[in-house]
Amino acid sequence: MPRPIQATIHTQALVDNLNRVRSHVPDARIWAVVKANAYGHGIDRVFAGLRGADGFALLDLAEAQRVRDLGWRGPVLLLEGVFEQRDLELCSRLDLWHTVHCEQQIDMLAAHKTNLPQRVFLKLNSGMNRLGFVPAQYRSAWTRLNALPQVDEISHMTHFSDADGVPGVQKQMAVFDAATRDLPGERSVSNSAAVLRHDGLASDWVRPGIAVYGSAPDYPEHTAAHWGLQPTMTLEAKIIAVQNLLPGDTVGYGSSFVADAPMRVGTVACGYADGYPRTCPTGTPVLVDGLRSRTLGRVSMDMLSVDLTPVPQAGQGSSVTLWGRAGNGHVLDIDEVAAQAGTLSYELMCALAARVPVEVSE
Ligand SMILES: *Cc1c(COP(=O)(O)O)cnc(C)c1O
Repeated sequence: MPRPIQATIHTQALVDNLNRVRSHVPDARIWAVVKANAYGHGIDRVFAGLRGADGFALLDLAEAQRVRDLGWRGPVLLLEGVFEQRDLELCSRLDLWHTVHCEQQIDMLAAHKTNLPQRVFLKLNSGMNRLGFVPAQYRSAWTRLNALPQVDEISHMTHFSDADGVPGVQKQMAVFDAATRDLPGERSVSNSAAVLRHDGLASDWVRPGIAVYGSAPDYPEHTAAHWGLQPTMTLEAKIIAVQNLLPGDTVGYGSSFVADAPMRVGTVACGYADGYPRTCPTGTPVLVDGLRSRTLGRVSMDMLSVDLTPVPQAGQGSSVTLWGRAGNGHVLDIDEVAAQAGTLSYELMCALAARVPVEVSE
């Protein structure tokens, strides 16, 4: 028997989350962001749930190829554009739309031999200072692109650094509006947080990622339930041993947890080599047989320990939900676990280890 650990991808939750996002921006077209192998879910595994999107946005040419191989004929956008000249061959062959964020990418386009003009998203650096042309250079970049026979339509795009706050979004939006004023073309500004919190922004194309995967972009201010989002990934493992502790007994490496009363402890077949964060301290929530309990002591490579006090009926073979939806329907928010680990749900999803078997459910 394989180690009793499994991740489940919930197809219907992807469908429902996408609909939920759409209800905020009914007139926009939606890029389902599937970079980082669909935030760790697997592009192949989310495709059925996300094919109601208007396009797929991603980073990697191999991911774009995957989406085409799955039969997707609609728009595909490379969020960082091309990395070298010959990437443009594949853009032509696979009909990919691509971001243009720097002069070098315009040079590559100018040198590209094609009779299939490209659809590009010109990126403005409106304050994030990661990618894009600064406002003073934006128009000349647009003019240069617009003069190229290799370029068909030019859209405008920027990315928010503080999409959960109001002043940050307003400031970047003002920069964006000023830089793109009077220029023809569609606009794309909103990520998940902007779609949910600022759904009045003018964005012909929105780019939600994390919301589609059922996590609140502005946790802990709001929860996924507040936004009507459902978990799309469950990580579950079984209890493979039970220990009966006496007062003064300790659990795990470093003996960081010390029992102050007799208690039962379950050893779970999940550790940091499965993608469960080692930084989760004693007290991180888990569901044992669908009921809330907590971790005890340090997370080790292949195992972690949980308190069986609140679940006296649980024992060897009981299911422990590390995040997501338990068999009885109860949900443990991945955001809650991520917060305990001092990180974000994004990182936990992306870090799901390759050794964990993944099942796709309806
Ligand atoms: C990752 C990414 C997104 C999606 O962000 P979420 O916070 O997951 O919604 C949108 N736009 C760009 C440019 C990105 O890189």
